[in-house]
Amino acid sequence: MVHKYFYCIHDFCVSIGQDYTTYGQHTLVMQKKYACLRCGKSYRHQSNLSRHKNKECGKEKKFVCQLCSYRSFQKIHLMGHMYRKHLF
Ligand SMILES: [Zn+2]
Ligand SMILES: [Zn+2]
Repeated sequence: MVHKYFYCIHDFCVSIGQDYTTYGQHTLVMQKKYACLRCGKSYRHQSNLSRHKNKECGKEKKFVCQLCSYRSFQKIHLMGHMYRKHLF
């Protein structure tokens, strides 16, 4: 029997320390909320799924890291990668 009280669409919920099972089901529910039917990638927010469908799905990742094999759809992601992986 699955209880629904943790079925929540809010971002902050993932950071609340619930017990593992509840947390796992919670995130599972959230992950499955908006899924791309073409490739199966899922998002928590409708806007992210829309962006994925319009700009990412089936397209090439055009932002390439010069220092490793990382590739990204968005410049902001590549910049975040550079910052995290190669600046420290
Ligand atoms: Zn897709
Ligand atoms: Zn890199």
